[in-house]
Amino acid sequence: MTSKALQSFLNEHIKDLKERGLYNEIDPIEGANGPVINIDGKSKINLSSNNYLGLATNDQLKEAAKAAVDSHGAGAGAVRTINGTMDLHLELEKKLAEFKGTEAVISYQSGFNCNMAAISAVMDKNDAILSDELNHASIIDGCRLSRAKILRFNHSDMSDLRTKAKEAVESGDYNKVMIITDGVFSMDGDIAELPEIVKIAEEFDLITYVDDAHGSGVLGKGAGTVKHFGLQKKIDFQMGTLSKAIGVIGGYVAGRTELIDWLKVRSRPFLFSTAVSPADAAASTKAVDLLMESTDLNDKLWDNSHYLKDGLRKLGFDIGNSETPITPCIIGDEKDTQTFSKRLYEEGIYAKSIVFPTVPKGKGRVRNMPTAAHTKEMLDDALAAYEKIGKELGII
Ligand code: PMP
Repeated sequence: MTSKALQSFLNEHIKDLKERGLYNEIDPIEGANGPVINIDGKSKINLSSNNYLGLATNDQLKEAAKAAVDSHGAGAGAVRTINGTMDLHLELEKKLAEFKGTEAVISYQSGFNCNMAAISAVMDKNDAILSDELNHASIIDGCRLSRAKILRFNHSDMSDLRTKAKEAVESGDYNKVMIITDGVFSMDGDIAELPEIVKIAEEFDLITYVDDAHGSGVLGKGAGTVKHFGLQKKIDFQMGTLSKAIGVIGGYVAGRTELIDWLKVRSRPFLFSTAVSPADAAASTKAVDLLMESTDLNDKLWDNSHYLKDGLRKLGFDIGNSETPITPCIIGDEKDTQTFSKRLYEEGIYAKSIVFPTVPKGKGRVRNMPTAAHTKEMLDDALAAYEKIGKELGII
């Protein structure tokens, strides 16, 4: 029997979300998450995945995963610190360190987990964290879990950051102070001001942490936002995910050996949650190999991104301040944004609407994620649909 309190909690909150149009219905896809997906028996051009390089369906990754299942089994069987650490995990971490240009790497079961793990392993209630107001939910939760004082600074506003950093340090209230930022912001596609962040960190002796979920595989010829700015020696934590450009699942922190050794003994998901499966580790290693061997996929990603962005701009759409493949098409009004995305769906294009509270009121957008796996014909079809619907709704 369900508790009455739980039942009334669920009734009330689900009704409220539905009334406010915020109840997210899930569209299950039939088959793989490639440039074209099947939903409800119909194929759609997919502009909503984070599979930047198309690696989620890459044959070499699939082969590596199958071979790992045969040689190492379906699961890791234990947490990393008992006997769940396999040669496959160590190989992945070694390759990632080489790729990121750092001394060492620790990997986790997801990017979300990684932020929860790494922030709270280093920061505590006697510390402060300066956090960009648009940072990802996993950073926010990781900061909360640490119990450090959270000091939010205005989005990429370096003068606000400097003022708050100075105040925090001069107050003498905190043992350690960290600056934490996304490398690439996932809703707008803009890049963090890392050179300025490093300057402020050096001036006040602050710890630096970059969540590069959307920069890894994308910027710096694939090695990420930190490499893009040539700051590999200046950032303490380079966090990344294996679930987006790498195409698999998992997260990691790249940094100095001493820091990574500390995370291995103190970060709780590493100590208390089972390691990623052999197939996941082997497929991720293969992906890193491919990125180190050639920049072809990265070049293709950028070529497709420029093509889609130029096309949308020429049609008269507002694509905001994006500097990366993340391409928001800003419609404004929440209802219009949802109608736009629904019409795209009817025209065979899958591109999700993103509205308040994920983005500010009146800044509703359809977010497009071009990948290396799209063909120009697919992007032309998407642009044709944008033109048709844009005219139909009086947006262009
Ligand atoms: N950080 C950022 C900026 C992200 O966008 C995401 C994924 N939405 C994550 C962390 C979490 O990564 P994962 O999906 O691997 O858990």
